Amino acid sequence: MAEETIFDKIIRKEIPADIVYEDDLALAFKDINPQAPVHLLIIPKQAIATTNDISKEQRELVGHLYWVAGEIAREQGFAEQGYRTVMNCNEYGGQTVYHIHVHLLAGKPLGWPPY
Ligand code: 5GP
Repeated sequence: MAEETIFDKIIRKEIPADIVYEDDLALAFKDINPQAPVHLLIIPKQAIATTNDISKEQRELVGHLYWVAGEIAREQGFAEQGYRTVMNCNEYGGQTVYHIHVHLLAGKPLGWPPY
């Protein structure tokens, strides 16, 4: 089982977060240290530590996170303009919170490659 992280506390509303979307499976909130005009984190309520830990049974749940990203983009009006979704994994991927999350970055042209 995944270790407890700060995101579990956000899910349980024990610490505040600027929540923009919530359903039975997922939560989306503003990143505390935004890297773009829009920087949201979309997380499953079920704790999964890294991309490596996604089980076959959890494929639909992870797909749901990307569906939520599209819903938010349409709702907030930047779907056509475009945006980036990123899930970092482990040290070289730059992961710092070990509860999988999709970064949703939008609101300006984003550079590529990401270094
Ligand atoms: P990672 O580096 O794991 O891909 O992304 C973790 C993200 O979580 C970072 O962008 C960081 O700013 C964000 N973050 C870490 N702690 C908190 C917190 O307590 N609240 C919010 N809203 N974001 C956080």
